[in-house]
Amino acid sequence: MPEGAEVRRQADRLARVLVGRPLARVWFGLDRLAAHAGDLEAAGVHAVEARGKAFLLRFGPDALDPTLPAEAVAERLASRTFRGRSLAALYLDQSFVAGIGNYLRTEILFVAGLLPERRAKDLSPEQRVALAEATLAVTRQSYATAGITNDLARASALKASGEPRGRYRHHVFARGGRACWACGAVIERVELAGRRMYVCGSCQR
Ligand SMILES: [Zn+2]
Repeated sequence: MPEGAEVRRQADRLARVLVGRPLARVWFGLDRLAAHAGDLEAAGVHAVEARGKAFLLRFGPDALDPTLPAEAVAERLASRTFRGRSLAALYLDQSFVAGIGNYLRTEILFVAGLLPERRAKDLSPEQRVALAEATLAVTRQSYATAGITNDLARASALKASGEPRGRYRHHVFARGGRACWACGAVIERVELAGRRMYVCGSCQR
């Protein structure tokens, strides 16, 4: 069994090969994690760490880390590494911010009022801050409510009026062809970075 320093050296060797490369295929030994494999595929490896005698592939900062400030996300949006890419692609890359899957990326961009084709470098500093704040707020609300990303007061009112959870859960995700809760425009389904997204062409610019 290798000792800690030897594991550290192996981690460094792995890091030289893996960091910055996309994951081609993700496999989890635990069934309950299998559903997340798709979220990690095509993600970039950010670091390889030794944890005791195991390796840990580290991705970008975790959106659910309560110590992660919105400013840190805004700085990443403005960084050379990420600023030139479309928001649609960026929000599926776990080396940008980890823990955001397809429905969260869709909902975050709606809350920030931004179209997924836009690039971080084309946003104003105020828009980058708003997007960073939406990134953390939507992800944390979804975690706290087991997946509700819609405005909570609106979701409560819709629930009270008898709407099923699938109808009040999100702002736009999986609501193609329906009316935007905020403005009434018809929500469009689009394919971006190989995955379905939903946008309100009136609320998002
Ligand atoms: Zn709208």
